[in-house]
Amino acid sequence: MTDIEGRILESIETNKNKVRIFWDMDGTCTSMEMQNKEHKLEPGFFYTKRPIKTIINFMKKFNDLGADTFILSFCSYNYQKDDKLRWLKENCDFIKEENIIIIPRKEKSLNITEDKKYIKAHFIEKYTSPDDIIYMVDDNETVLLGTKEKLPYLNIVSPIDFIE
Ligand SMILES: [Mg+2]
Repeated sequence: MTDIEGRILESIETNKNKVRIFWDMDGTCTSMEMQNKEHKLEPGFFYTKRPIKTIINFMKKFNDLGADTFILSFCSYNYQKDDKLRWLKENCDFIKEENIIIIPRKEKSLNITEDKKYIKAHFIEKYTSPDDIIYMVDDNETVLLGTKEKLPYLNIVSPIDFIE
């Protein structure tokens, strides 16, 4: 067992119903295989991404033990959300719909002007209280560090920390 798995299991054991885990999608539970890159803006692109089973198994394990599971993922535009929702329905059907947060970062109507590395912090704040035990799993180190800068009580985790 890796250190991070042990830490999360212990958190769930000692803080029942207070553990909330925010999982990124691209590069965390879905593969970012580069040969798909040219199709990034084509509808269907995100839906065809390969699920990373090792990570999804951890998501489900912690969820079944009582952790509250969230998806916290960026996309560029609104239409890409449908792809991601479809992918989640197929590959992570244990996640509650109300816990799925997908942020279309380049959609003008959202008027997001803030630095990318700070955006996720606002959403985590909205869905938690500071006495929760909160983990954020994301492959983007800049985003992890930016989020922790805003929410110092946050536990940040890289998906490779789950690999032995
Ligand atoms: Mg990512």
